[in-house]
Amino acid sequence: MCLFCEIAKKNIPSTCVYEDEQVFVFNDINPKAETHMLVIPKEHIDNVAGITPENSAVVSHIFEVIAKLTKEMGLTDYKVISNCGEGAGQTVFHLHFHVLGGKGLDKAFV
Ligand code: AMP
Ligand code: ZN
Repeated sequence: MCLFCEIAKKNIPSTCVYEDEQVFVFNDINPKAETHMLVIPKEHIDNVAGITPENSAVVSHIFEVIAKLTKEMGLTDYKVISNCGEGAGQTVFHLHFHVLGGKGLDKAFV
Protein backbone atom coordinates (compact mmCIF):
# COMPACT_ATOMS: atom_id res chain seq x y z
CA MET A 1 0.00 0.00 0.00
CA CYS A 2 1.32 3.49 -0.80
CA LEU A 3 2.24 6.11 1.83
CA PHE A 4 -0.91 8.21 1.40
CA CYS A 5 -3.18 5.11 1.39
CA GLU A 6 -1.56 4.24 4.75
CA ILE A 7 -2.14 7.80 6.02
CA ALA A 8 -5.80 7.77 4.87
CA LYS A 9 -6.27 4.46 6.71
CA LYS A 10 -4.49 5.95 9.77
CA ASN A 11 -1.87 3.22 9.74
CA ILE A 12 0.68 6.04 9.57
CA PRO A 13 0.01 9.09 11.80
CA SER A 14 -0.69 12.52 10.32
CA THR A 15 -2.21 15.78 11.48
CA CYS A 16 -5.71 15.16 10.13
CA VAL A 17 -7.49 18.43 9.31
CA TYR A 18 -10.67 16.98 7.79
CA GLU A 19 -12.03 13.64 6.69
CA ASP A 20 -15.20 12.18 5.20
CA GLU A 21 -16.08 8.98 3.33
CA GLN A 22 -14.28 10.12 0.19
CA VAL A 23 -11.41 12.38 1.17
CA PHE A 24 -8.70 12.90 3.77
CA VAL A 25 -6.95 16.21 4.47
CA PHE A 26 -3.75 16.56 6.50
CA ASN A 27 -0.88 18.98 6.96
CA ASP A 28 2.20 18.58 4.80
CA ILE A 29 5.14 17.32 6.86
CA ASN A 30 7.43 19.89 5.20
CA PRO A 31 5.26 23.03 4.89
CA LYS A 32 6.21 25.54 2.20
CA ALA A 33 3.83 28.24 3.51
CA GLU A 34 2.01 29.06 6.75
CA THR A 35 -0.87 26.84 5.62
CA HIS A 36 0.14 23.78 3.60
CA MET A 37 -2.47 21.05 3.50
CA LEU A 38 -2.67 17.98 1.31
CA VAL A 39 -6.08 16.86 0.08
CA ILE A 40 -6.29 13.25 -1.10
CA PRO A 41 -9.01 10.87 -2.25
CA LYS A 42 -9.26 7.81 0.03
CA GLU A 43 -9.39 5.68 -3.10
CA HIS A 44 -5.95 5.25 -4.64
CA ILE A 45 -5.41 7.16 -7.90
CA ASP A 46 -1.77 7.61 -9.03
CA ASN A 47 -2.06 11.24 -10.14
CA VAL A 48 -4.09 13.55 -12.41
CA ALA A 49 -3.30 11.27 -15.36
CA GLY A 50 -5.20 8.49 -13.56
CA ILE A 51 -8.50 10.44 -13.44
CA THR A 52 -11.20 8.75 -15.54
CA PRO A 53 -14.97 9.12 -16.06
CA GLU A 54 -15.36 6.27 -13.52
CA ASN A 55 -13.42 7.91 -10.66
CA SER A 56 -13.63 11.65 -11.40
CA ALA A 57 -16.55 12.45 -9.06
CA VAL A 58 -14.16 12.57 -6.12
CA VAL A 59 -12.23 15.38 -7.81
CA SER A 60 -15.17 17.82 -7.75
CA HIS A 61 -15.80 16.75 -4.17
CA ILE A 62 -12.16 17.54 -3.34
CA PHE A 63 -12.59 21.07 -4.70
CA GLU A 64 -15.81 21.55 -2.70
CA VAL A 65 -13.90 20.48 0.43
CA ILE A 66 -11.07 22.90 -0.41
CA ALA A 67 -13.57 25.77 -0.83
CA LYS A 68 -15.29 24.91 2.47
CA LEU A 69 -12.14 24.39 4.56
CA THR A 70 -10.35 27.51 3.33
CA LYS A 71 -13.48 29.62 4.01
CA GLU A 72 -13.67 28.21 7.54
CA MET A 73 -9.99 29.04 8.04
CA GLY A 74 -10.49 32.59 6.75
CA LEU A 75 -8.14 31.95 3.82
CA THR A 76 -9.22 34.00 0.82
CA ASP A 77 -5.97 33.80 -1.17
CA TYR A 78 -4.37 30.45 -1.77
CA LYS A 79 -2.88 28.14 -4.38
CA VAL A 80 -4.01 24.62 -5.30
CA ILE A 81 -1.26 22.57 -6.95
CA SER A 82 -1.05 18.98 -8.13
CA ASN A 83 2.24 17.70 -9.53
CA CYS A 84 1.76 14.98 -12.14
CA GLY A 85 4.80 12.82 -12.88
CA GLU A 86 8.36 12.71 -11.60
CA GLY A 87 9.46 15.41 -14.04
CA ALA A 88 6.89 17.77 -12.51
CA GLY A 89 8.17 17.06 -9.01
CA GLN A 90 5.69 14.39 -7.92
CA THR A 91 7.29 12.33 -5.16
CA VAL A 92 4.27 10.49 -3.73
CA PHE A 93 2.30 8.62 -6.38
CA HIS A 94 -1.15 8.98 -4.83
CA LEU A 95 -3.23 11.87 -6.22
CA HIS A 96 -2.96 14.89 -3.94
CA PHE A 97 -3.70 18.57 -4.08
CA HIS A 98 -1.40 20.93 -2.20
CA VAL A 99 -3.33 23.85 -0.68
CA LEU A 100 -0.96 26.69 0.17
CA GLY A 101 -1.87 29.94 1.89
CA GLY A 102 -0.85 32.55 4.44
CA LYS A 103 2.66 33.78 5.16
CA GLY A 104 5.21 32.69 2.57
CA LEU A 105 2.62 32.10 -0.14
CA ASP A 106 4.37 34.48 -2.56
CA LYS A 107 7.50 32.30 -2.50
CA ALA A 108 5.80 28.92 -2.11
CA PHE A 109 6.82 26.33 -4.66
CA VAL A 110 6.04 22.61 -4.38
P1 AMP B 1 4.68 15.91 -4.27
O1 AMP B 1 6.16 16.19 -4.23
O2 AMP B 1 3.88 16.89 -5.08
O3 AMP B 1 4.43 14.46 -4.65
O4 AMP B 1 4.16 16.11 -2.80
C1 AMP B 1 4.35 15.17 -1.79
C2 AMP B 1 4.26 15.92 -0.50
O5 AMP B 1 4.06 14.99 0.53
C3 AMP B 1 5.52 16.72 -0.15
O6 AMP B 1 5.19 18.11 -0.03
C4 AMP B 1 5.97 16.11 1.19
O7 AMP B 1 6.47 17.08 2.09
C5 AMP B 1 4.68 15.47 1.69
N1 AMP B 1 4.84 14.34 2.58
C6 AMP B 1 5.66 13.26 2.44
N2 AMP B 1 5.51 12.39 3.46
C7 AMP B 1 4.57 12.92 4.27
C8 AMP B 1 3.97 12.51 5.50
N3 AMP B 1 4.30 11.37 6.10
N4 AMP B 1 3.04 13.33 6.07
C9 AMP B 1 2.71 14.50 5.49
N5 AMP B 1 3.21 14.93 4.32
C10 AMP B 1 4.14 14.18 3.72
ZN1 ZN C 1 -2.35 5.29 -2.41
